Amino acid sequence: MTAEEQLFSDVTTPQGRAGWAAIIADPAAALIALDFDGVLSPIVADPEQAYVLPAAVDAMAELGGRIGTLAVITGRPVQAALRLGGFAGRAGLEKLIILGQYGVERWDAATGELTTPEPPAEIQQVRDRLPALLAECGQPDLYVEDKGRAIGVHTRRASDPQAALDAITGPLLDLADELGLQAEPGRNVVEIRAAGFDKGSALQGLVAERTAGAVAYAGDDLGDLAAFDTVDRLRAAGTPGLLLCSASDEQDALRPRADVVCAGPAGIAAFLTHLAGAL
Ligand SMILES: [Mg+2]
Repeated sequence: MTAEEQLFSDVTTPQGRAGWAAIIADPAAALIALDFDGVLSPIVADPEQAYVLPAAVDAMAELGGRIGTLAVITGRPVQAALRLGGFAGRAGLEKLIILGQYGVERWDAATGELTTPEPPAEIQQVRDRLPALLAECGQPDLYVEDKGRAIGVHTRRASDPQAALDAITGPLLDLADELGLQAEPGRNVVEIRAAGFDKGSALQGLVAERTAGAVAYAGDDLGDLAAFDTVDRLRAAGTPGLLLCSASDEQDALRPRADVVCAGPAGIAAFLTHLAGAL
């Protein structure tokens, strides 16, 4: 066994073998989607320095010309993935698709276009109704962070942050519920945002758009579980799939569900190189 082969496990599961075989049999119909952080780029102390491994970009470029659809699906904004990935203008990646912010944003290498849909109208309703609602809660002076597609109400600067949080959490959850939005309570903050965006729905939408005949997905963290669920559902419905885990000491949730376990981003790059070589 070569050093490269030891960076990833064999495809041992029957479903994974079916996914691998389907990709090899008809690469033009296949879709390969890759998470960014911890899969293409190593996890580092400063996320602004999480550059994609050169070996990963090389492997993607090799795959790019042979696979029907090659995509990156990330929680990061597209611009951050482009800056840290060096994908733009790279030979072999002329058809790369990046779905950023869990599928809210999309960038197509083929056109160089970045599309961000309008925020849902319900977010504007939150914006309009928030001042009166916070006043009713006795908390008119809280810091409101407007992110466009999400609005966060912060209590950290209040004289009693916990009391302020207790006062607003229920009414904000109710408001989100009424408008069909998602409310996320956090540390001294409640954020209201559009529901329905995660890596699973992003992958599902892309597979449907591309009418992919086989799909592979690589992830490393809890946010990737939704995409793993999507591949499992596709497989149950007859579309072969292959699940890759970029293993780390920090997070083990994906490992038991993966068909191939890779030794971090270097292992992912080695596996993608191996796959490109098999096509
Ligand atoms: Mg990740």
